[in-house]
Amino acid sequence: MTIQTVGIIGAGTMGNGIAQACAVSGINVVMVDISDAAVQKGLATVAGSLDRLIKKEKITEADKAAALARIKTSTSYDDLKAAQLVIEAATENYELKLKILKQVDGLVAPEVIIASNTSSISITKLAAATSRADRFIGMHFFNPVPMMALVEIIRGLQTSDATHDAVKALAEALGKSPITVKNAPGFVVNRILVPMINEAFFVLAEGLATPEDIDAGMKLGCNQPIGPLALADMIGLDVCLAVMDVYLTEFGDSKYRPCPLLKEMVAAGRLGRKTGRGVYSY
Ligand code: NAD
Repeated sequence: MTIQTVGIIGAGTMGNGIAQACAVSGINVVMVDISDAAVQKGLATVAGSLDRLIKKEKITEADKAAALARIKTSTSYDDLKAAQLVIEAATENYELKLKILKQVDGLVAPEVIIASNTSSISITKLAAATSRADRFIGMHFFNPVPMMALVEIIRGLQTSDATHDAVKALAEALGKSPITVKNAPGFVVNRILVPMINEAFFVLAEGLATPEDIDAGMKLGCNQPIGPLALADMIGLDVCLAVMDVYLTEFGDSKYRPCPLLKEMVAAGRLGRKTGRGVYSY
């Protein structure tokens, strides 16, 4: 199946990024959110991002106009009927996603593929809530979507090869480098990344080195662009803790226990950049 139009549910950080990636690659987009204000904000973010690309001479004014012309915004799910693939990128909440997916499943044609951009909810479980589990898949884009090359394509237990192949081809058409992953908590990248960040907190708590030296060690010794503690401040310490809690519960393996220092900092409200203080002060 050729995907010419992509429906996107949610015009937030990820939704508008996915919309931009599709539109600049010649794919039509229908971007839906709950209010006019939300869709307009999403569209303005895309326009601002395209302006920055013009300044860097990566695209022209004409490219920007053509991309924006490909994005239709709406507050009605009915408009998603034009799409061959619908990507759900709404707020990370299981009950909300279930409600949205059931609604879309009942609305779009049976052959339409539905994908979710969830970071933490089981693709197999979401798929089972629809009437098309074989045409359901995870498409986990990374933030900021227009800059990041990776898309994790997550196969639920029921996902068909045809669905996987169509979605992989679309990711490649967007200029991305997809990897195929079986459904499991954290998929692949966050499964490795977040326990590494948690371990950096253990190293800090044991007083083995200063935060600056821990981060410098991982940058200079492993070629990471940012140290794990500075990255935790960017992601949010509360988000890192929540992810570790999910792994601990889901795998039942004590190797995923969150570092007590991470818990202490979250309890103190030191959540990272968003609160002005995490491991570092901002
Ligand atoms: P966000 O808060 O920026 O945007 C979510 C949008 O969903 C909001 O505009 C909200 O109004 C909209 N929404 C809520 N209920 C809706 C409904 N019923 N119908 C349509 N739209 C609705 O969140 P985000 O960061 O863009 O995250 C979206 C999804 O992407 C989440 O599942 C998240 O886990 C995942 N994700 C986020 C990141 C990241 O770094 N932000 C990275 C990868 C995946």
